[in-house]
Amino acid sequence: MDDHLRRVPRAMSRRHAPHPRPRSVAVVGGGMVGLATAWHLARGGATVTVLESRHVAAGASWGNAGWLTPAKTTPLPEPAVLRYGLRSLARPSSPLYVPVRADPRLLRFLAGFARHCTDRAWARATAAYAPVNAAALDAFDELAQQAPGLAQDSADPFLMVFRSVAERDAALADLSRTPGAHAAGHEVLDGDEVRRIQPSLSQEARAGIALHGQRYIDPPAFMSALADAVRALGVEISEGVAVTSVRGDGEQVLLTDGTGEGRRFDAVVIATGAHLADLARAHGVHRLVQAGRGYSFTVAGEQIPTGPVYFPTQRVACTPVRVAGQPRLRVAGMMEFRRPDEPLDPVASPRSSQPPAACTPGSTSRTVTTSGSARARARPTGCR
Ligand SMILES: Cc1cc2nc3c(=O)[nH]c(=O)nc-3n(C[C@H](O)[C@H](O)[C@H](O)COP(=O)(O)OP(=O)(O)OC[C@H]3O[C@@H](n4cnc5c(N)ncnc54)[C@H](O)[C@@H]3O)c2cc1C
Repeated sequence: MDDHLRRVPRAMSRRHAPHPRPRSVAVVGGGMVGLATAWHLARGGATVTVLESRHVAAGASWGNAGWLTPAKTTPLPEPAVLRYGLRSLARPSSPLYVPVRADPRLLRFLAGFARHCTDRAWARATAAYAPVNAAALDAFDELAQQAPGLAQDSADPFLMVFRSVAERDAALADLSRTPGAHAAGHEVLDGDEVRRIQPSLSQEARAGIALHGQRYIDPPAFMSALADAVRALGVEISEGVAVTSVRGDGEQVLLTDGTGEGRRFDAVVIATGAHLADLARAHGVHRLVQAGRGYSFTVAGEQIPTGPVYFPTQRVACTPVRVAGQPRLRVAGMMEFRRPDEPLDPVASPRSSQPPAACTPGSTSRTVTTSGSARARARPTGCR
C-alpha cells in the first residue's frame, strides 16, 4: 500500500524534480473522488484532512444514478452525438439543454466539443479510457475488502430498454465498437424477455439489451459508508470549510478558507468536481471543465425494478435505492450545459428526467429525498 504514495512522485518526475514523500495532505472536496483519494492516501501512511465546503457528498456524488458500468463508459463526443445535439436544441422535451446566451466560456467548450465529434477522436479517447475502465471494478473491490459497507450490488444484467427494435439495433452498433462491452458480453432481448427480467416494465418495452458484469451502488448509502471508512483510518473531515485559494511556497502549500484562516500541508489534492477550475487554474490546469448538469428524483412505487434500467433513447437512468430502509426508484437524467451553481432554470425544468412510458413501476408518490433539492444535483462530467 505504501506504493500508492511513491507512485505519485515517480509520475511527476518526468517533468519536475522528485518530490519528497508528503506527510500531511489536504484533500479539497468531500465527494466520491475526494474521499476515495483520502482513503488511499491514509492507507499509504499520510496524515490526511478533507476540507469540504458544505458536507460530505454535497455535490454530484449524492444524487447520481449509482452505476458502475465500465463496459458502457465511453467518450461523449462522437458524430452521432453532434447530430443528436443539434436536433435536440429545437425539441423542448430533449434531455439536452444548452442555454442560448453569449457565454464565451460555454461557446469555447461547445466549439471544442464539436471539433472532437469525429470517429478518430472517439477511437483515440476510447483507447485512453480502456485501461481505466479495466481497473475500475477491481478498485471498488479493494475498497469493499477493507470496509464491508462498501460492497456493491451486481447489475447482472444491466438492462437497456427500447421502444423499438430499430432503436435497439442502433445501440447495439455502438456497443459493438466499445471494447469493454464486447468483453463483458451482452444478449439481445425482445419485449417479453425484457419483461421477464423486470416485470415492472410495460408493453411499451419492445426490445432490450442485457449487459453483463456491471454493478451499481446506492449513492447516499455508499458515500456515508465511505466517509465512515475514511474516518476510521484517522482522516479528519472538516465540513463547512470552503477553500478559496491554494498557494505553494516551494516547500508546502497554504490553503485559505472563506474566513481567511490559513492551513499548511505538504501536498494538496483538489477534488472539487465541477468547481475544479476555481482552484486549479492558477496551478497550470487549463483544461476547460464544463458542468453537464443532471437531475435525479426518487419515487416510491408498488413494483420497483430489482436492478438498474436504462432508457438510452430518452437518456433516462433508473436505479433501485433505499430510503429509510424502504425500496425506492431513483430516476436520473438530463444534461444541461450551465454553471454548477446556477438556480433551476424554469425553461429547462419541464424537460427534466421523466421516466418514459415503458417504465411503469407503479409509482404512487414522488418523494423528494432531501429538503426539496433532490432534483438538482449538478453533474460535473460534461466531458464524459
Ligand atoms: C444525475 C446524475 C447522474 C449520474 N450518474 C452517474 C452514474 O450512474 N455513474 C457514474 O459513474 N457517474 C454518474 N454521474 C457522475 C458522478 O456523479 C460524478 O462523476 C461524481 O460524483 C464526481 O465526483 P466528485 O467527487 O468529482 O465531485 P462532487 O461529488 O461534485 O464533489 C465535489 C465536492 O467538492 C466540494 N467543493 C467544491 N468546491 C469546494 C471548495 N472550494 N472548497 C471545499 N469544497 C469544495 C463540493 O461541495 C462537493 O462536495 C452522475 C451525475 C449526475 C448529476
